[in-house]
Amino acid sequence: MFEALEELTPDLEELYRDLHAHPELAFQEKRTAAIVADRLTAQGWEVTAGVGQTGVVGILRNGEGPTVMLRADMDALPVLEQTGLPYASTVVATDSSGAQVPVMHACGHDVHVVSLLGACALLAGDPKAWSGTIIAVFQPGEESGYGAAAMVDDGLFERFPVPDIILGQHVGPGPAGMVGTCSGTVMGATDSVTVELFGRGGHGSRPEGAVDPVVMAASLVLRLQTVVSRSVAAKEPVVVTVGALHAGTTAAVIPDSATLAINVRTPTEEVRTKVMAAIERLVEAEAVAAGATTDPAITSVYYLPPTVNDAASTERVAAAHRAYFGDGLVISIPPTTASEDFGLLSTAAKVPSVYWFIGGIDPETYGKAFMAGRVDEDIPQNHSSTFAPVIQPTLTVGVRTFVTAALDWVGAQVKGNEQ
Ligand SMILES: [Zn+2]
Ligand SMILES: [Zn+2]
Repeated sequence: MFEALEELTPDLEELYRDLHAHPELAFQEKRTAAIVADRLTAQGWEVTAGVGQTGVVGILRNGEGPTVMLRADMDALPVLEQTGLPYASTVVATDSSGAQVPVMHACGHDVHVVSLLGACALLAGDPKAWSGTIIAVFQPGEESGYGAAAMVDDGLFERFPVPDIILGQHVGPGPAGMVGTCSGTVMGATDSVTVELFGRGGHGSRPEGAVDPVVMAASLVLRLQTVVSRSVAAKEPVVVTVGALHAGTTAAVIPDSATLAINVRTPTEEVRTKVMAAIERLVEAEAVAAGATTDPAITSVYYLPPTVNDAASTERVAAAHRAYFGDGLVISIPPTTASEDFGLLSTAAKVPSVYWFIGGIDPETYGKAFMAGRVDEDIPQNHSSTFAPVIQPTLTVGVRTFVTAALDWVGAQVKGNEQ
């Protein structure tokens, strides 16, 4: 299976540099999707493009056996790349609000696309080594929170076979060559909510005649910091971040309203209910305290459920990875407060899924930072303008993790037949 990888590698590395230099925002992944569709077609996959707007689905039917879905996300972020890499992005695009923004593969989804295309090439090139059906899903818009939902709504599990297992991976700021695995909830839920506080505008010289939404918003931002510290047990990984705060236009005018964009990360549904209730309570109380006559509005922008790794399937994948890479390179990791829409796929299909992490940082660089206790300071993380995975061994590990995990389902049939 892996003999062909060495020959494929220069092409995969070239493709990676090309995709990295040409990042596309959520639901604008037209160039990336076209490259994916062309390559899958050339490898002999049945290809359907335009699933969930810009998503691509490839199917390879290879006899009797289980059906495995492999998923990679394709979109980039509105970040100005500052890696200094020779293949750094200089792309500027128009975002969904019409603004011109720089674009960068700051979350490493280019690694995911190339890893899955490499895995597809190996599986298509060695049909004797396995038996079953592989579905390769190249998903748009992960960063928007709508990508997986868009593909599901467009019939991902009606128009294509329902898999027995869904597998996905993410590159992160760990040492390249390492695989991180976690059973159960691997990533928490995310809520993105907008809060509008309504005051009563007026002249800046006469605050007594107005209800000032700027003061309400300022007070609320600080109050919200107590949700995590006072309403939630210390052991729960919860984050409440106010990422945007907008009010007013000029000094002498008290504006009518203020808007806050709040991001909430919670590990379980129970904790989420508690945290969201606390936020709602503080928002409403702030308006009451200020004497506002119009109730504040709380609007959900999106919700991503926790990503839950099926325990038995996770053990299978981890065992397959350990057998292939060696025990020392496959480690257990704690759940993260990051979120993904990957979990929506298994929820919609009602089948188990497994999501693991691969390192993307030069092991020597990582080791030095680790020994100096400076990982947070010296190792750029996902979404940073300097996040720059090393091409190798990141890409070949990304290919091998997909293939070895998939073969644990579809390859076992072949082994069984041979015995
Ligand atoms: Zn991301
Ligand atoms: Zn990501």
